[in-house]
Amino acid sequence: MMSFFKKIGKCIANLFITKHNTMTNIVLFGKPGAGKGTQAEVLKEKYDLIHLSTGDIFRFNMKNDTELGKLAKSYINKGDLVPDEVTINMLKSEVEKHTDANGFLFDGFPRTTPQAEALDAFLATKEWKVTATIALEADDEVLVQRLLERGKTSGRADDQDEAKIRNRYEEYNEKTAPLIDFYQGQGKFHSVNGIGEIEEVTSRLSEVIDQL
Ligand code: AMP
Repeated sequence: MMSFFKKIGKCIANLFITKHNTMTNIVLFGKPGAGKGTQAEVLKEKYDLIHLSTGDIFRFNMKNDTELGKLAKSYINKGDLVPDEVTINMLKSEVEKHTDANGFLFDGFPRTTPQAEALDAFLATKEWKVTATIALEADDEVLVQRLLERGKTSGRADDQDEAKIRNRYEEYNEKTAPLIDFYQGQGKFHSVNGIGEIEEVTSRLSEVIDQL
């Protein structure tokens, strides 16, 4: 007969396995201005996920003039990507703050192949994985205009100068776009039309998430 303690142990193990299997980790993918942040704000409530935006974390550090903020600023204000090592370490320490989460919504991370590989390896140490990557598709010219408009009120230096915005797209095309193949290779890449009312785009994203 199974002892009481063995039974309790099995129950705990089952709970543990269920938790890992139900964890939903979504990478929101898309060019600057595609609406990742706006959609993440809605989706985090709807699916009870932790929203991690590397851009927001950098901006918080810049505002508070931390060492990380000072370092990031020199890249961000030019529209360049912050070096991988800095970004990956920052992301890992944010995830570590929420190890009891139902899942994460990664917004603006990963943006390079080394970041995507580091994310997979890091999640694997916790027996977690990326569930899916969903791209918000939109035309470049529409996005440039959107960012210039946002720059009038956001106060973001990187949104106010068309040359810096164009540099961000070059960074995207060169370093981030290869991630489409990376996630397609894992059978995890999805994309939705990112143009439309906020609610419309949310429902397109939800259709994908509900089928995961
Ligand atoms: P975002 O708010 O996502 O558009 O990010 C603003 C800026 O922060 C980017 O243009 C980059 O300079 C920097 N940044 C944000 N996320 C990353 C990342 N994953 N890797 C490198 N740089 C990043």
